[in-house]
Amino acid sequence: LRARQAAVPTGPGRTADGYAVPLLANVGSAADAHLAVELGAEGVGLFRTEFLFLHRKSAPTVAEQTEQYAEIFRIMGDRPVTVRTLDAGSDKPLPLLNLPEEENPALGVRGLRLSSVHEGTLLDQLTAIVAAAEETGASVKVMAPMVATAEEASYFAARARDAGIRTCGIMVEIPAAALRSGDLGAEVDFFSIGTNDLSQYLFGADRMSSAVAALHDPWQPALAQTIALTVAGAGRHEVQVGVCGESASDPEFACVLVGLGVETLSMAPRSIAAVRARLAEVTLEQCRAAAAAVLSARTAADALTAARKALGRDT
Ligand code: PEP
Ligand code: MG
Repeated sequence: LRARQAAVPTGPGRTADGYAVPLLANVGSAADAHLAVELGAEGVGLFRTEFLFLHRKSAPTVAEQTEQYAEIFRIMGDRPVTVRTLDAGSDKPLPLLNLPEEENPALGVRGLRLSSVHEGTLLDQLTAIVAAAEETGASVKVMAPMVATAEEASYFAARARDAGIRTCGIMVEIPAAALRSGDLGAEVDFFSIGTNDLSQYLFGADRMSSAVAALHDPWQPALAQTIALTVAGAGRHEVQVGVCGESASDPEFACVLVGLGVETLSMAPRSIAAVRARLAEVTLEQCRAAAAAVLSARTAADALTAARKALGRDT
């Protein structure tokens, strides 16, 4: 038993040939952050801040937010934390914002678009994040959700930098942002690809509907192609690319993401061990071969079979 335990890799994510792939955690509370540290996350790649705004009649003050952000930064210690600004709307309804009813909320005023009606909420949040980072000495990055255009990326980066954020980024979760990643990359320091929403908008398939779940399969070749496009656009500006959607927690698909040029993977803390173990078994060259195989597959099933073969699986 002891020998078997010793074979399980711990520590930072890396391929068999030593290519480093930081394995980060998605967290939405202090409890998640504790779990992330316990399970060896190298940082937080997605800090969902919605929890602070839930079950309240009015928005939290800057002081309240500062305290809560600081708590999570302290738990993470010297590990970097990427905070996402409020992603309210659609699958994350926030009654306190009193948003008008929309017929298609997933296509409505959500994510960064909220700042067109509630700019103060964004500015307060940025102020609190900077204050908490200063108070704790944490290494903090900030990103905005649901960014579609270069103007939106530029708007967010300007507000974030004015507030004192040094490293700012955007989530790439709308196909237009992926298509124009070369333009959006000129505005920010990093991209974090949200494959949950990216699949939803790419395939026109509601992420909340189990009837269309097959279209949310990460092995759909169109998803890999969109990620490849994003990496290519980012490469024009030395913009770092991570993935923080559910797809990063599939150990086999995580290898494909690495092969596509994705530099960091962020996932639920409990998924980290399996991804770390699988990455340790494959080389970067195998990951690239698997990515190429997925890009040239016709169906999700073909993509999975071809990737497994490239990654040394028999079946
Ligand atoms: C995503 O859309 O992939 C994502 C990571 O964000 P959320 O699931 O919070 O929308
Ligand atoms: Mg999303």
